[in-house]
Amino acid sequence: MDNIRNVVIIGSGCAGHTAALYTARANLKPLVLEGHEPGGQLSLTTLVENFPGFPEGIQGPELIENMRKQAARFGAEYQHGHVVRADLSQRPFTLNLGRETVQTRTLIIASGASARWLGLPNEQALIGHGVSSCATCDGFFFSGKEITVIGGGDSAMEEALFLTRFATKVTLIHRRDQFRASKIMLDRARHNDKIHFLTDTVVDDVFDASKKEVTALMLRNVKTGKIWDLPASAMFLGIGHIPNAKMFEGQLDTDQDGYLKTKDYVFTRVPGVYACGDVQDRRYRQAVTAAGTGCMAALEVEKFLEGEGR
Ligand code: NAP
Repeated sequence: MDNIRNVVIIGSGCAGHTAALYTARANLKPLVLEGHEPGGQLSLTTLVENFPGFPEGIQGPELIENMRKQAARFGAEYQHGHVVRADLSQRPFTLNLGRETVQTRTLIIASGASARWLGLPNEQALIGHGVSSCATCDGFFFSGKEITVIGGGDSAMEEALFLTRFATKVTLIHRRDQFRASKIMLDRARHNDKIHFLTDTVVDDVFDASKKEVTALMLRNVKTGKIWDLPASAMFLGIGHIPNAKMFEGQLDTDQDGYLKTKDYVFTRVPGVYACGDVQDRRYRQAVTAAGTGCMAALEVEKFLEGEGR
């Protein structure tokens, strides 16, 4: 017996737990390194109504806890830990967690992507209470309300357009008067009567943390310096995501924004190393698609180890 793991899974969001469930049921005794944000983005949302199997919806943190329990029941091991450095140049692969190292024959990277936040004084306290980075997750809760979207790229346009299904008015706030968004998306947003544009404007804070709900945004025009409060029931961030793949820089292929590049869904360029979920998916970014690619990565690990006679 050696100390080398059959499979280590980096990340404990939807993709990581699903990969853990499948590899545990294949008797591979996976080790899951939970990362900085255990539970991933689902742990930051409230009611999840678009994950199949829950007709009444389920709270994001409860859903992710259920996934963890399910994988643990079949023998998945969980460890607090964050990979500082990884050496994928030879097998077994070595993961440096700061105080210890872990060696593994195969690796599933499910480290996710973190939403970019504005860093406002009251922002973190209101996440899940009107501050959100996921329109498809939380838009429904603002039916009949006036809300805001921050950003000037395709994500912001997409969120604003989606949110017009629920909100009576969507104010799109962008820090410049030029947009990164593609022309088609920008035109669609411009032609939607429910969307109002506020350009050259930044958010200085969001209220009201003491009420645990969003009531207004403090705005500032960057050209005139004018400061005012805009009443609103929600602030949706569409200012991009940051994939958590820095520890593989130079070892795995990434696109221009740092997302891991995969072939056939989950294969990286290093045999035995697979990537799944939001760290490699900038397109769908849904809990159910992350679970799907987590499953694929696990099945590939099984096949890979089988091919080596393990
Ligand atoms: P993005 O194109 O990088 O746009 C981010 C936007 O957020 C920019 O307008 C940026 O402003 C703003 N921003 C960033 N940090 C900010 C801050 N601290 N304060 C205020 N504003 C801030 O990101 P994205 O919209 O998520 O798109 C990422 C990629 O996915 C793009 O390639 C996009 O085309 C693609 N995408 C495509 C679709 C689609 O086609 N349906 C949908 C979503 C995303 P500045 O412009 O001033 O920098």
